[in-house]
Amino acid sequence: MIKYYEKQSNRKECRTIVESCVKEQGKIYVTLTESVFFPEEGGQYADTGWLQTSDMRVRVVNGEIADGQIRYEVEQEIPKGTEATCVLDWEPRYMRMQQHTGEHVLTGLIHNRYGYDNVGFHLSDDAPVTLDLNGTLTWEQAMEMETLANEVIYRNLPVIDSYPTKEELKSLSYRSKIEIEGQVRLITVEGVDTCACCAPHVAKTGEIGLIKIVGLQNHKGGIRISILCGMRALLHYREQLQLMSSLAASLSTRPEQVMTIVANQKEELGVLRGQLAQAAERELMRTINELPEKRNVCIFVERESSPVTVKNGYNAMVKRFDGFVGVFVGDDAHGYRYNAGSGTLDSRELAAGMRAALGAKGGGSREMVQGKTDAKREEIQRFFDEL
Ligand SMILES: [Zn+2]
Repeated sequence: MIKYYEKQSNRKECRTIVESCVKEQGKIYVTLTESVFFPEEGGQYADTGWLQTSDMRVRVVNGEIADGQIRYEVEQEIPKGTEATCVLDWEPRYMRMQQHTGEHVLTGLIHNRYGYDNVGFHLSDDAPVTLDLNGTLTWEQAMEMETLANEVIYRNLPVIDSYPTKEELKSLSYRSKIEIEGQVRLITVEGVDTCACCAPHVAKTGEIGLIKIVGLQNHKGGIRISILCGMRALLHYREQLQLMSSLAASLSTRPEQVMTIVANQKEELGVLRGQLAQAAERELMRTINELPEKRNVCIFVERESSPVTVKNGYNAMVKRFDGFVGVFVGDDAHGYRYNAGSGTLDSRELAAGMRAALGAKGGGSREMVQGKTDAKREEIQRFFDEL
C-alpha cells in the first residue's frame, strides 16, 4: 500500500482501489492500494474519514496493523476492485500532527540536555499528550525546556522524513524507542532532533504554533510530562483565563490579587471558626450550669459540635453531678455519638445498661464510655430519668 501519510503528510485525499473486503466478528475491514489514513501505531490514534465512490460514501472509523498488514474498519461493505477516493478528516489529523511534532521537539531538547529517553507516549484527543521519560526534571527545568521548545517553533525549522538504508543507519545518531525491523523512517527537526517514527508530522516547526507543559508527575522512577500544542494549547489558555477571571470576579478583585484574597479569607475563616467554637462552648457550659439538680443527667448537643467542646462539656457534667452523665451529639435522623460515665461509679455498668435499653454500641473504661446509638432522643432521655 502506498502510504501518503508518510511522505505527504499534508495530503488530504487520494485515489485508491479496494483490494479486499472482509467481515470479522461483526466488523467490516478493507485493504487499499493507496491511503491517506494513518493507522493506529506508536501511541497515536488512527485517522478517520471517508471512502467515496461514484455511488456511495462509506465512513472509515478505524485503521490498524493486523499480522503486518494495514487494514481499515469501514461502516459498509465495498466490493473488491472498487475505485474510490480516500477523504481524510483533516482537522483532527492536523491537531495530532501538531501534538506529535511538538512532542518530538520537546523530547529531543530534553534528550540533548539531560540524555533522557522517551519510554512512553500517548496521544489522545481529549486529554493532554503524555510523554514518559526515564529521568526526572524539576518544574523549573521543565519550564526552561518549554521555553527552548517554543524558540524552535519561532525559528520555523523544517521537519524532514528520511528512509536510510541499514548501512547509512549505522553512521547516524537518532532516538528510537524500539529495535525496528525493516525500513526505518526517521523524522528530523533540523538541528534539534532525529527520531525513528511512523506517524505523520507537520512540515515546519512553526505549524506547531505553541507548546505548553500542563503537568509533570513522577512516573516509574522517571517523569511523565503532559503537553498541549497548537490550537489545543490556545483553548487551554482560554479556559484557564476564563476560570481565573470568574474566580477573581466572585472575589470582587483582580486576577493578580486572588491569591492574597484567598490567603486572607482562609486566615479569617480560621479565626471565626475559633470564635464560634468558643461561643458554642460557653453556651454549652451555661446549659450545664443551669440544669436542675439531679443524680443522673444527659444533654443533647448539635451534630456539628467540635470533639473538644463535647469533651469539655462531659468533664463539666462529671464534676457537677454525682451519678451517671451523658453527652449525646447528633439528632434523631442521624443517630447519636456519646460520651457517658461517672466520676464515682463504674461507667461500664452504664454502658451495659445502654446496650440493653438503647441498643448502644461502644465501650470504654471505668471513667468513661464512648460509642453510638440509633435510639431516639426521647428514649435516651427516659433511660437517664429512670436510672
Ligand atoms: Zn514520533
